[in-house]
Amino acid sequence: MKRILVTGGAGFVGSHLCERLLGEGNEVICLDNFFTGQKRNVVHLLDNPFFELVRHDVINPFVVEVDEIYNLACPASPVHYQYNPIKTVKTSVMGAINMLGLAKRIRAKVLQASTSEVYGDPKVHPQTESYWGHVNPIGTRSCYDEGKRVAETLFMNYHQQNGVRIKIIRIFNTYGPHMHPNDGRVVSNFIVQALKGNNITVYGKGDQTRSFQYVDDLINGMTKMMATSDDFTGPVNIGNPGEFTILELAQKVITLIGSKSKIVYEPLPSDDPLQRQPDISLAREKLNWEPKIPLDKGLVKTIEYFDQLLKES
Ligand code: NAD
Ligand code: UDP
Repeated sequence: MKRILVTGGAGFVGSHLCERLLGEGNEVICLDNFFTGQKRNVVHLLDNPFFELVRHDVINPFVVEVDEIYNLACPASPVHYQYNPIKTVKTSVMGAINMLGLAKRIRAKVLQASTSEVYGDPKVHPQTESYWGHVNPIGTRSCYDEGKRVAETLFMNYHQQNGVRIKIIRIFNTYGPHMHPNDGRVVSNFIVQALKGNNITVYGKGDQTRSFQYVDDLINGMTKMMATSDDFTGPVNIGNPGEFTILELAQKVITLIGSKSKIVYEPLPSDDPLQRQPDISLAREKLNWEPKIPLDKGLVKTIEYFDQLLKES
C-alpha cells in the first residue's frame, strides 16, 4: 500500500484519480481549496478510512509523508482560470515549487498535470512533444499557458539539479462525469444546454478543432506514467487523437440527446487555438498506452451523468 497525495483531488480529474488509487488499495490524501472542485465529487469516498480530505491552498507549503504526489491543483476551464489570472499563475508556479520542495525533502515521486496548452495555438499538427509551441505571453490565456510552462521548467530543474523523481504529462481536452455543470468548458456546456433545451453556444464559426479524451483513458495513462521507470520523465502527451470541429461536437450532442436545442454563434474568445490533436506515439511506445473510449461512447456516459445531476437539482 502506498500513501499518495493528490492536489486538486476534489476537481473533475482529481476525483476520478482518488477513486482509482483507493480502488487499487492505496491510502489517498486529497488536497483542495475548492475553487473549482466540489465536495460532492468525493463525498462517496469519505467513509473510506484510507481517504483523507484536506482544505489547503497549494500556494502555501504543505508537509506530509507520502510516497507519490500527483499535482493537479489548478483551474482548467478558460472561464475559471481567467477569473483571477494572478492567482492562476501563483497556483501553477508556487504550487509546483511547494510540491517539488516537498518531493525533494521526503524523496517522493511527483507527477505534474501539464497541458496541451503549452503548445498554444500550434503551428505543428498534430502536436509532438518536441514542438516548443506558439504561445502569446501576454494574452488572455497566458496566465494558464505560461504558468504551466514554468511549472514544466521547474519540474525539469528540480530533476536535473536535485535528482527529484519527476513525471510530466501533457493532457489534451478531457471530459466526463464530475465536470462542474457551470464549468464553462465545451463538452459540459453543450450537454447541459442540450438537456435543458437551451441554445447551444458555438464560439466563432465552430470550425476550430479539439481532440476529446474520456476521463477513464486519462486516468489509465496518468497512473501508467507514474508507475513506469524513473528514467522516463516525459513530457508525454496523453490525449485521444480523434479530432472534431466544435460544430461537429455540437451536432453529435444534439443527436445523442435528441434535443430540440438550436445552435447559435457567439464571438470567438481571443487567442482561442484553431486546432489541436495529440501525437501519442511516445505514450504508445513508452507506456504501452492508448485511449480506448471513442467520443460517442464517452459522450453517452457523460450525458447520463448530467441528466441525473439536473434531475436531482
Ligand atoms: P478542475 O478545475 O475540475 O480541477 C482543479 C482542482 O484544483 C479543483 O478541485 C480546484 O478546486 C483545485 N484548485 C485550484 N486551485 C487550487 C489551489 N490554489 N490550491 C488547491 N487546490 C486548487 O480541472 P480538471 O479538469 O480536473 O483539471 C485537473 C488538472 O489537469 C489541472 O491541473 C489542469 O490544468 C490539468 N488539465 C486538465 C485538462 C482537462 O481537459 N480536464 C486538460 C489539460 C490539463
Ligand atoms: N467553445 C464553444 N462554446 C462553448 C464553450 C467553448 O464553442 O460554450 C469552444 C471554445 O471557443 C474552444 C473549444 O470550444 O474553441 C474548446 O473550449 P474549452 O473551453 O472546452 O477548452 P480549450 O479552449 O481550453 O481547449
